[in-house]
Amino acid sequence: MVSMRSLQDTMRQIYFYKDSRRGIEGTFEWLMEEVDELREAMHRGNKEALRSEFADVVAWLMSLANLLEVDLESALLSKYRECCPKCGSSPCGCTFGISPKKLGGS
Ligand SMILES: [Zn+2]
Repeated sequence: MVSMRSLQDTMRQIYFYKDSRRGIEGTFEWLMEEVDELREAMHRGNKEALRSEFADVVAWLMSLANLLEVDLESALLSKYRECCPKCGSSPCGCTFGISPKKLGGS
């Protein structure tokens, strides 16, 4: 199994030069564009397009994390290793977060 850390390292090898030239804000804009494309693929219901867009979103997220020197694997594991970080349960027992409009806090 390839780790998320090694995938992020691979993305750094492939794209860090271009990512650095584009900068943090520009890379963030690309990530947002890919999230929009993911939403479109979700609505089209094409499984292969959906897989491709998920891959693009994670790749751009890794590019942004590389620019900001964030290790995604350790960030995820330190926050979401075994249970919900808010309520400490698995499955999550929080009452917020069902509707996007009711999302509060971070
Ligand atoms: Zn919870």
